[in-house]
Amino acid sequence: MAGEPQADCLFCKIVAGEVPATVVRDTETVLAFRDINPQAPTHVLVIPKAHYPDAAALAVGAPGLAADVLREAGEIAAQEKTVEPGYRIVFNTGAGAGQTVFHAHAHVLGGRGLEWPPG
Ligand code: AMP
Ligand code: ZN
Repeated sequence: MAGEPQADCLFCKIVAGEVPATVVRDTETVLAFRDINPQAPTHVLVIPKAHYPDAAALAVGAPGLAADVLREAGEIAAQEKTVEPGYRIVFNTGAGAGQTVFHAHAHVLGGRGLEWPPG
């Protein structure tokens, strides 16, 4: 069922405390933790605690929860002092776009110059 934990999902295991993570924010609905392979001085992953395979499925299945993820992404940018000069919120969607974990997650990237267009 949509939103239910998946046994083979790395991020569901992090939510369950079965895999360790460096948590930076923890709310009733959302968990944020540092990426294990950071691509910028600030590189935090923001995930809904419920399992949805990608951002679009999250927005369709649980729009309020999608909003929680975006709000927390903004809170993290503020906490990491990267609102100025700016930061990036990325949802890789699909293997061809670099998605490797099929549990919706926002990358919050900041603390260095961020080129546009991205690679
Ligand atoms: P994506 O490639 O968009 O699906 O993002 C998955 C991200 O999860 C990558 O940036 C990985 O570096 C990161 N990652 C993988 N395993 C872990 C872990 N155990 N703890 C924190 N981040 C992880
Ligand atoms: Zn999951």
